[in-house]
Amino acid sequence: MADIDKFAISKTNLMERELQQLPTLAKDKHNENKKYFDKLKKRVPKDLDYQMQQIHNEVFDEIDCLQCANCCKTTGPLFTNADIERIAKHLKMKPQQFISQYLYIDEDKDYVLQNLPCSFLDSENCCMIYDVRPKACREYPHTDRKKFQQITNLTLKNTAICPAAYRVVEEMKKRIPAK
Ligand code: SF4
Ligand code: SF4
Repeated sequence: MADIDKFAISKTNLMERELQQLPTLAKDKHNENKKYFDKLKKRVPKDLDYQMQQIHNEVFDEIDCLQCANCCKTTGPLFTNADIERIAKHLKMKPQQFISQYLYIDEDKDYVLQNLPCSFLDSENCCMIYDVRPKACREYPHTDRKKFQQITNLTLKNTAICPAAYRVVEEMKKRIPAK
């Protein structure tokens, strides 16, 4: 039991260190990654969707989101009307009541969280509304999205927030040549 605890603590420490270094690492790689994506978009490999799915799965096999939760702590999702209705129903609230309590409309006219870390993140890094969470949370960091070449700018931003997105891009550069 003690060994398991020690292992858990060291995993947490490793993730904390990775999260501390991530903004600097992402900044250092920004120009290189941008150049790579620009080239990739000019000649999109036929099997890009397949390769992205493989890399995404491999990276997420290695990363434990429960040790991280940086997306829930530092950048909230946007909430669609369907998200709002589903979550409000789950919380036995009226959609308008849910909006007033948790959301505001940002400069892009999207509903986003009033507070960060997200109010639905508990002390164990679990989502308290996991089964009904917003679509954007389910799909974050979108690295297994079809036509990944369409979201490279978003991915560049996500490499500074999400260790998985950072690792996916590093792996892409090794495995998917951009000519
Ligand atoms: S999706 Fe990325 S930022 Fe969010 S918890 Fe997982 S590794 Fe961390
Ligand atoms: S709703 Fe859940 S998954 Fe989405 S940001 Fe909040 S805690 Fe994270």
